[in-house]
Amino acid sequence: MEGSSDKQGKGTKLAGAGRRKEWTGPVVNPPVWRASTHLYPDEAARKAGGKNNSDGQFYYGRRGAPTQWALAEALTQIEPGAFGTVLYPSGVAAITGALLAVLRPGDVLLVTDNAYEPTRLAALGLLRDFGVETRFFDPTDIDGFSAHFCERTKAVMLEVPGSLTMEMCDIPALAAIARGKGAVSLLDNTWASPLGFPVLERGCDIAVMSLTKHVGGHSDLMMGSASAGEHYYRKLRRTAQALGHVVSPDDASLALRGLRTMGVRLEKSTASAAEIAHWLKGRPEIAHVLCPTLPGDTGFDLWQRDFTGGCGLFSFILKGSDEDARARFVDALDLFGIGYSWGGFESLVIPFGPASIRTATPWPPQGWDTGDRLGIRLSIGLEDAEDLIRDLDRGFAAMERT
Ligand SMILES: *Cc1c(COP(=O)(O)O)cnc(C)c1O
Repeated sequence: MEGSSDKQGKGTKLAGAGRRKEWTGPVVNPPVWRASTHLYPDEAARKAGGKNNSDGQFYYGRRGAPTQWALAEALTQIEPGAFGTVLYPSGVAAITGALLAVLRPGDVLLVTDNAYEPTRLAALGLLRDFGVETRFFDPTDIDGFSAHFCERTKAVMLEVPGSLTMEMCDIPALAAIARGKGAVSLLDNTWASPLGFPVLERGCDIAVMSLTKHVGGHSDLMMGSASAGEHYYRKLRRTAQALGHVVSPDDASLALRGLRTMGVRLEKSTASAAEIAHWLKGRPEIAHVLCPTLPGDTGFDLWQRDFTGGCGLFSFILKGSDEDARARFVDALDLFGIGYSWGGFESLVIPFGPASIRTATPWPPQGWDTGDRLGIRLSIGLEDAEDLIRDLDRGFAAMERT
């Protein structure tokens, strides 16, 4: 599955991606093909069709139908360097599915210390049970990275910025070291999407994304994807088929709808997040704003160097350690729902404290007042930034009350 013209801009690609005539027919979007059974016109066609286990061929529902093929092809077309994309029933399924595709018993996996927590748990549970050993590393320590490799190190799982704590890291440098050591590198690119960070162009081998977040964009579906060049795509697909991973055509149709507007949604939420982060930086209640798109953030230079976009997700740390005050802040917000997930059109807030799940890096980081440990993560949606700021202001006022 070839990508479309590389000269096209991102908006043009998003509008046209995956819209093959044979899948859409005379309408704009591919219909929802609900199908388990694919019928053959005759015995000769069945015999011919059963032979090649290739994507985009009618065979049986587990291999998808045009709605899913159109979504997979669209994601391939917006990921520079990708040969194909596998869809998974969730982002976590994409992470574990991709890791199972490249690891074998006895292998060692390196995982960034600030990975999404279920990634950590999969490594320490499922993968350990399959004989894979996991070691965690500090993604900001480029000089120390080589030392983590041994003969058995076969894969590196990266994520940028780090989950919850939002550290940037030098992906091209880490990926080059991994490649030099003969290890495959996977990157969870849910934060930036291919619009903000072209994973394969930056030197990684497999781009993983939770489509639940920006691609869905409307908080009403769960899905994941992994895109790669031909070699790894074939491994991903074989493993996904063996695991029986399939996504519903209804959800694929929703994801395609979300994809068309992902560019404008991300532009707006990135701009609003930068404005809100800047405002938060001036608040006396706040010890640290953790937002790589904010000038002055420790990750800002890397973000400017390597990224072509951002999103509405960032965090901050309150001064002090009064958990009740943090709860009053969260409860006073009207426009921010309290919930996990992010990347929807509506803003969300979630309190966090990562100290208990970090093993290779200190939390709080060196140089911070250790009393400042209450984190809050915001997912900025499509509401107007000034309204969100007014809402946050209400939250800070509620902190003062007892
Ligand atoms: C949410 C998330 C996932 C998992 O996606 P689901 O679709 O919820 O399974 C993976 N990585 C990151 C960084 C996430 O935020």
